Amino acid sequence: MSAAAGVVDAAGVIAWLRAFAAEVAARRDELTDLDAAIGDADHGVNMDRGMQAVAAKLPAGEAGAAGTSSGEAGPAGTPLGPLFKTAGMTLVSTVGGAAGPLYGTLFLEMGKAAAKRTTLTAAEWAGVVSAGVAGVRMRGKAQAGDKTMVDALLPAAEALREAAGSGASLAAACRAAADAAAEGMRATTPLVARKGRASYLGERSAGHQDPGATSTWLLLETAAATLAGGAAGEHTGGAAGEHAPGGLASGEGG
Ligand SMILES: [Mg+2]
Repeated sequence: MSAAAGVVDAAGVIAWLRAFAAEVAARRDELTDLDAAIGDADHGVNMDRGMQAVAAKLPAGEAGAAGTSSGEAGPAGTPLGPLFKTAGMTLVSTVGGAAGPLYGTLFLEMGKAAAKRTTLTAAEWAGVVSAGVAGVRMRGKAQAGDKTMVDALLPAAEALREAAGSGASLAAACRAAADAAAEGMRATTPLVARKGRASYLGERSAGHQDPGATSTWLLLETAAATLAGGAAGEHTGGAAGEHAPGGLASGEGG
């Protein structure tokens, strides 16, 4: 059973989390290099460990035609809240530093907002994502422009709401969110960090792309590739790579 077109369902979410895990694994060293420039060189390793743990806890997967083994109706009947809660709890318990609590909070708050729903329209999805982003902002106390993951998350959530509010399809809204995340990520390069370990560097943090904003862009890019169901079966690898030039590596060499 693949993700249904036009709505977010469990099959789509499972495909998304698997695609994000695969993308983080493929780019683990690049993420760590970004963190080496302005942090403690562990972002790629930490996120990879966390997302591999998440992937290992996911139900049989989007291609599991016969559904799950626990008497549920299969991915299509699975409530979204518990899926996100599992992802969030797993990240909190397996990822050190700031990334675990922040990504964990994102998914936990999304899980609370999605609750027992099994499908979400684009507008409802925008609301769920906004709830997650609000949780991250509260937890990390970061504002826009502080050179953190919020700089990618916030414009993505806004683009998602705006697109969904004007009647865009789920696919188009997710695309707009990913593009906004990419723009926000690139805009972190000249910023001086005001939160997290990078803030210890003061002015020297300028000239480097933020690693958390970069992994957040991967999260939104893989969402665009998987959630609307249009890319089912080809959700690994290529999605973020299309936008790779100037992406991950642009913070290097400063
Ligand atoms: Mg770090």
